[in-house]
Amino acid sequence: MTDRWKGNNALFYWLVMFKTIYIWKGMGLSFQRFRNWSMDCPFYCSLRRAGESCADAQDTGCGTKLCNRVLEMTGPGDRFSALTDFLLTSIFGSMSLNSLAIEDILGPNGLLARSLQAFEFRPSQLEMAFLIEQSIQKEIPAIVEAGTGTGKTFGYLVPLMLSGKKAVISTGTKNLQEQIYFRDLRLLQEATGQNIDAMMMKGRKNYVCLHRYHQHVSQRSLLEEEQGKTRQMLNDWLQKTEFADRSELAWLPDDDPLWDSISSTSEQCLGADCLYLEACYLSTLRNRAARSKIIIVNHHLFFADLKVKKGGFGEIIPRFQVAVFDEAHNMEDIATAYMGESLSTSQLLELIGDLEREIKDLPDSDSAKIRRELDIMRAAVQQVIRVFDDQDGKGRLDPDQFLRISEHPARQIRRRLQLIKGNETLRDSDNAILHSLVSRAEELDLLLEKILSSKDPNWLNWYEKRKRTLVLHASPLDISERINELLYKKVRTVIFTSATLSTNGNFHYIRSRLGIPGNALEGIYPSHFDFGTQTLMYIPKDLPIPNDPDFGSAVAERILDILKRSKGRALVLFTSYQNLNLVWEILKAKAEYNIYRQGDAPRSVVLDAFRKDVHSVLLATGSFWQGVDVPGETLSCLIIDKLPFDSPGEPLVSARIDAIRDRGGNPFMEYQVPSAIISLKQGLGRLIRNSDDMGILSVLDTRLLMSRYGKLFLNSLPQMPITYVLADIDNFFEKLKGET
Ligand code: SF4
Repeated sequence: MTDRWKGNNALFYWLVMFKTIYIWKGMGLSFQRFRNWSMDCPFYCSLRRAGESCADAQDTGCGTKLCNRVLEMTGPGDRFSALTDFLLTSIFGSMSLNSLAIEDILGPNGLLARSLQAFEFRPSQLEMAFLIEQSIQKEIPAIVEAGTGTGKTFGYLVPLMLSGKKAVISTGTKNLQEQIYFRDLRLLQEATGQNIDAMMMKGRKNYVCLHRYHQHVSQRSLLEEEQGKTRQMLNDWLQKTEFADRSELAWLPDDDPLWDSISSTSEQCLGADCLYLEACYLSTLRNRAARSKIIIVNHHLFFADLKVKKGGFGEIIPRFQVAVFDEAHNMEDIATAYMGESLSTSQLLELIGDLEREIKDLPDSDSAKIRRELDIMRAAVQQVIRVFDDQDGKGRLDPDQFLRISEHPARQIRRRLQLIKGNETLRDSDNAILHSLVSRAEELDLLLEKILSSKDPNWLNWYEKRKRTLVLHASPLDISERINELLYKKVRTVIFTSATLSTNGNFHYIRSRLGIPGNALEGIYPSHFDFGTQTLMYIPKDLPIPNDPDFGSAVAERILDILKRSKGRALVLFTSYQNLNLVWEILKAKAEYNIYRQGDAPRSVVLDAFRKDVHSVLLATGSFWQGVDVPGETLSCLIIDKLPFDSPGEPLVSARIDAIRDRGGNPFMEYQVPSAIISLKQGLGRLIRNSDDMGILSVLDTRLLMSRYGKLFLNSLPQMPITYVLADIDNFFEKLKGET
């Protein structure tokens, strides 16, 4: 290294420092404060308010404190240059963004209007963006309902981007996650000319674990000729890929069990003991996320990570300042799943299998002893499964089942897990994998204890049968307190948005279910579409009510009447498979159009066939109430068989109903009606997907007109004309024909 080079380098760093001080001073920050920062981390603190101490700062050993976030993203060798890069991007990047305001991007003559041909100025989108901006600036939560066509994602992306804060966006579906990352952010970037540092993260299972991969390929089966080819392809891919994301492997069939053997799981991660830690894709992903301003995840990953954050180990989402939950209407169910405890028999059987494989190298007497204990444990696991032999699906754990599990087999399982935990040969071994298996045994023992000892009346013990696996759950009936502890107390700006969050014009329901802080800002922005002219709602007055035994056949006949008028082109949504199948039997014998049924092929295949076959009919339930996007003529008619109340057969639903009743509330009005309203609004969202769509909404449930709660449903839907006579459907389509 020449003296001249050293001199140039030093000059460059001095220039950077002077420029930095100058800009910070220009930003209203005192020189004195900067001097203080020189002893502390200048980066993370620059994002905080003056005078706050930073819990995330770590002593570097030389009297300087640096933020964990910065330490995470810089290796020991390149720390200074990485810090300089970080500094320059933060300051110069945010300077140019600071010169822009929301209207400059979303306004009628804004950057998006100029760069996007299809952009339509939407005042409600602008209003929504101002509300989000306020929430971010004041660090208070916000609840925003933005009806279909409002342009909701730009409504929060723009203020988020302008704020320069580190944010996590969590979506309910993978489709929306991909749409934001691959489409919306790219459009925003092109329109503003700014580089938006964003990344998308999926659940751990979507990435290769190098430790598991090497374990797998070392097995003989993969060395055999056919699998040898697969191994070579995988190996070639792993040399090139950045994060080893499953979606890059188009050649690997969806159901290939290979992926399960090589993908990452938090249970099997060796953490600091891993031989491949330096090259680990999960670590690369995490480091990349630490440097990104916007991270797009889904609710499953968000809450799984929130749970491990509590334990302080294994998290992959870095700390953030703002959380935006899009599709927040389905947050409660997902959050409940992660805030409770679950243990499956396959977790126990996998541990047994992994231990049997790893103890092979131990002295014979030790391995034989452990193997005997594992055999007893396997038999006890099978005994637990047999307790539910006569049961289907899921249900609450009754006292008899509880006793039959906890008396004998659970005790046997726990005893073996504790023996593994205390086994000195395993603990003293040099094998890191054996150590991680001992830790897993300890965790599973704790989990089983928690599930079986849960006596809290606000928790529910229930089971679920999935093929040959049995899952035992202990779930909180109300997540508001836990979510407050884990999230709202730690992140001040939490934004909830969806096209369907309000019921009867207010947010009481979503506020109470998610325990949203009382000071949250609120905004309801109606759909951009004109439901008054684009739709007609048909509600028959002459059908039997849903619990009448003739309801199913009467509904099938009425659907046939409607299909004649709509010429097929219909999506029919049911609340149960039972009704779906009954109507399917009748329709397939009598209907003149192709009828597709959910479950006859994978979701995407069924949807594709329906989309391409304009006059066809699709019968569906469950997940098809949300996320189906079929714009145009193919979906000119949406038929709903009955109001979508959650099934009281769902263990959590019935337990929540009981809990509300026990505390003197009215579960029907507080919980069941609002939840069904949100589902109905979701269903309706399938009909009108753009400004040119026209269509009929038929709800074949007379309770909408006859019951006292019916008007709450009607008040919650967009304003649209209602008819009770079939002939008006003809008129609607005739008029449409005349206009086109
Ligand atoms: S650190 Fe964990 S995820 Fe990464 S390679 Fe090792 S075991 Fe796999």
